[in-house]
Amino acid sequence: MKAAFYEAPYKVAVHEAPRPQPGPHEVVVRVAACGICGTDQHIFQGDFFPTYPLIGGHEMAGEVVAIGAGVDNVTEGERVAVDPSIFCGYCFFCQRAQGNHCLHWNGIGVTRNGGFAEYVLAPRANIYPIGAMPYEQAAFIEPISCVVYGVKRLRIPVGANALIYGAGTIGLLMLQLVKHGGAGQVVSVDLKEDKLALARRLGASATVRAAEKADDELRQLSELGFDVVIDCTGVPGVVEHMFTHVRDEGKLLFFGVNPTEATIKVSPYDVYKKDLEILGSFALRYTFHQAIALMQNGSVTVQPLLAERLPIERFPEALRLAGSGDALKVQIQP
Ligand SMILES: [Zn+2]
Ligand SMILES: [Zn+2]
Repeated sequence: MKAAFYEAPYKVAVHEAPRPQPGPHEVVVRVAACGICGTDQHIFQGDFFPTYPLIGGHEMAGEVVAIGAGVDNVTEGERVAVDPSIFCGYCFFCQRAQGNHCLHWNGIGVTRNGGFAEYVLAPRANIYPIGAMPYEQAAFIEPISCVVYGVKRLRIPVGANALIYGAGTIGLLMLQLVKHGGAGQVVSVDLKEDKLALARRLGASATVRAAEKADDELRQLSELGFDVVIDCTGVPGVVEHMFTHVRDEGKLLFFGVNPTEATIKVSPYDVYKKDLEILGSFALRYTFHQAIALMQNGSVTVQPLLAERLPIERFPEALRLAGSGDALKVQIQP
């Protein structure tokens, strides 16, 4: 099969590789679509301690083409999405149902071969049937599952006003789910006007361009701040600035992935005085079914977020395009 490999930091190559064979309780999926996300850029740069050579890609959908011994929950020919998260099941955190904090955590496309290939191997426990959903939409189930997990952590007060920094793919998925999750008003902030236009199309009540007057404009929209403020940028300066616009007894969600060494300044007095709640949200935890349901009932729309589909031979170019910030979601369709 053809596959795209990370061979060293900043080095990728597309070449032939043996097609995976399913062991007991495993399945092989012919990949139809696999999204590129920020994590793939991190792995490209050598973060997350990749073991080379590694096939990346963790936002996958495709068709089951082979099943191993003992697999009775899926059949060959079934259309599926793949949850990349692999939890050991026996560590302290797994035993407390905190799989995303598993001490032996593995990820398909992160620590073992993923979906930037014609075929991918997955445990049967990671396979989710998608019915008739188009594959290129189903490849969004993984990022939506992460957003569902974040929204679950937030417990949005009904009718809350929400402020979301970042209107990239994740910011625009967050916008839709925060609205669906009970917010009364959602305001999006981004540097780029075309992204903000899309945010308005997808349900933002108002948008503000991240420019000199942004703080004034946000105060005009809500003088006393917002009940919920969410970062979907992963930029430390933006995260620090979120505290300026959170309303008393408000919640802050750190969703974007910041550089591991980054720090920010927070006033502990403000957190105390304002009864603030600061929340993190890491990856996903058994939220695939919810993501699929939200897509199937139309609560979240992904088609406008899909910017580019490229064949696997053009993986290096696709990775560059996805990392440029100019395009929303770029997919490999092997
Ligand atoms: Zn991702
Ligand atoms: Zn574990």
